[in-house]
Amino acid sequence: MEERDLFFRVMQEAIETLKSDPIAFTHHTQHGPILLQATASREGDWIARIFGQQLNWMSPFRSLQEANEYLLCSFAELMPEHRCTGRCAPANGSDYPRLPVGA
Ligand SMILES: [Zn+2]
Repeated sequence: MEERDLFFRVMQEAIETLKSDPIAFTHHTQHGPILLQATASREGDWIARIFGQQLNWMSPFRSLQEANEYLLCSFAELMPEHRCTGRCAPANGSDYPRLPVGA
């Protein structure tokens, strides 16, 4: 397979993942752990949440893809110097209490 085709296939799969799988991931940064999480709200929206020692952002989105993209872009802007280590891992839900939406 040509390199270019492989690139497009990988990108396509990444986009499909953004549409179907809510992000739940903890990055361990020099400022402490930062949780990225997309959760469905009761109203049918998606809530993108970025939660750390000094921040607690929540934004509603119409689609899961938008919420996931917001999480990825925001974290990249917030921690441009961050490189994932072995401590960065999918969040299993027990790292932080799950706050009710709107709290
Ligand atoms: Zn990381």
